[in-house]
Amino acid sequence: MTIVINMREGVDRRKIKVAARFIEEGKLVAFPTETVYGLGANALDRNAVLSIFSAKGRPADNPLIIHISDFEQIYALAEDVPKEAEILAKHFWPGPLTMVLPKRENVPKETTGGLESVAIRMPAHEIALSLIRESRLPIAAPSANISGKPSPTLAEHVVDDFYGKIECIIDGGETKIGVESTVLDLTTWPPLLLRPGGLPLEKIEEVIGEVQIHPAVRGKEVDLAKAPGMKYKHYSPNAEVIIVEGKKERVKERMKELVNEFKERGIKVGVMATGEFYEADECFNLGESEEEIAKNMFRALRELDKRGVDVILAEGVEERGLGLAIMNRLRKAAGYRVIKAE
Ligand code: AMP
Ligand code: MG
Repeated sequence: MTIVINMREGVDRRKIKVAARFIEEGKLVAFPTETVYGLGANALDRNAVLSIFSAKGRPADNPLIIHISDFEQIYALAEDVPKEAEILAKHFWPGPLTMVLPKRENVPKETTGGLESVAIRMPAHEIALSLIRESRLPIAAPSANISGKPSPTLAEHVVDDFYGKIECIIDGGETKIGVESTVLDLTTWPPLLLRPGGLPLEKIEEVIGEVQIHPAVRGKEVDLAKAPGMKYKHYSPNAEVIIVEGKKERVKERMKELVNEFKERGIKVGVMATGEFYEADECFNLGESEEEIAKNMFRALRELDKRGVDVILAEGVEERGLGLAIMNRLRKAAGYRVIKAE
């Protein structure tokens, strides 16, 4: 049985206590953050952490992010915390920035996917923060989706994937940002961007100067990445996703041609559009700003799938600001299938 707790109207102390109790008992609680929903467990309890991996069907070498509610908790999880981590935390925590640091011995290898480093962040969401505070534990939480599926931005998505399989789901309504956190490795210098996310790279560079970008961020899949999570196919709906990239006007023309070609061949086609209307079988308008596209992208992938399309066409966006995270997720969802509109 799964308890679904409604907290759409805001934090309810009494209900948080119930959920925190589950965390203390080593059980799984899905909860909202500002990025996407997380599937949480006590980060220091190896059995609890192992049950995250088995519930998700997540490969054991794909490390988890540990969520904290107070900066001081970082010192109990990581050692040799550089000054830059403190500076970044002052600027961006709570918020969608995950920092990778050398791990302390008390952090189980299960949590870090066997690595000697640990990924930590402080979420900017009152439900998440209250849950961490109330349980008095660091909470390991990957996105609350079955491994390989699009990340959940609504409690309904978590219900679809985990109802009956976990102890508790806290419904806090739609998540604000819609893409996961930015992951920055601070165990090397200059720091290395491992995953673009809700905090744009440009903002980080304004504070600490130049950041290196891992080749997997923009490019193809890598065989053996420093963040093992990079090598797995991600965010994939059942439909085949195809990205159309190029100059904006040409992309829209090419999309229209492709919609017609698919329809003529009897293939049910869905479109993830940015402002433009397409005469596809199903059209999901993401909105036009980077913020709207990021917020709606995963939901669109899930919904178009539910509507039973065979193919999903997506417009590429420019790779700056949030656009870097949007394209990173889209490329993975598309299995790197890209059509250039020339
Ligand atoms: P998820 O929680 O599903 O958004 O995935 C967490 C991601 O954070 C992983 O797939 C890695 O890319 C990254 N990550 C977590 N821990 C580490 C670590 N110790 N070193 C490098 N990357 C990490
Ligand atoms: Mg994930």
